[in-house]
Amino acid sequence: MVKAVFPGSFDPPTYGHLNIIRRGAALFDSLDIVIAINSRKKQLLPAEEIKLMMEEQIELMNLGQVTVTTHKGLVVDYCRSVGAGVLLRGVRSSADFDYEFELSILNKQLNEAVETVLIPTEPKYFVLRSSTIKELLNLGGDISAMVPPGVEKALLKYRGRVD
Ligand code: ADP
Repeated sequence: MVKAVFPGSFDPPTYGHLNIIRRGAALFDSLDIVIAINSRKKQLLPAEEIKLMMEEQIELMNLGQVTVTTHKGLVVDYCRSVGAGVLLRGVRSSADFDYEFELSILNKQLNEAVETVLIPTEPKYFVLRSSTIKELLNLGGDISAMVPPGVEKALLKYRGRVD
């Protein structure tokens, strides 16, 4: 039984994240999406709202073995506490790869029992970034091709609040 964890800020969740979740769910017996609460990072959406958004999308994708959690602290400690052996991450570009590669080495030093698995994005999600979506949202740009309708609707109330 291989238990995987997919951590991230997901601020907001995008079609790129959902693609990694769908593909990860097909690889592992269980997949736990962990919304990392990081007080040093400026978040637009509260973690609890992201959790609700994610849960709605998981239900729509019919992924019964996928759960959503929020966590404050080291992801490797979370993995240890739930007995997860895989840390799943997505990669868009070589810049992402460099970052994820270093992070995987750091995480391995922190918890020898956890293996990082990287899934390369699909070309259509190559340019999807939560930060770009927040910029577009603020400027009144169309984000409907980047996030699911439920997320887009919830995001509209944050228009003008991105700084
Ligand atoms: P973090 O702040 O931890 O990087 P993100 O929410 O930005 O959190 O991303 C979570 C994970 O999803 C990361 O591994 C990131 O590389 C991956 N990811 C983000 N956008 C995409 C995308 N469009 N395609 C594939 N993976 C993505």
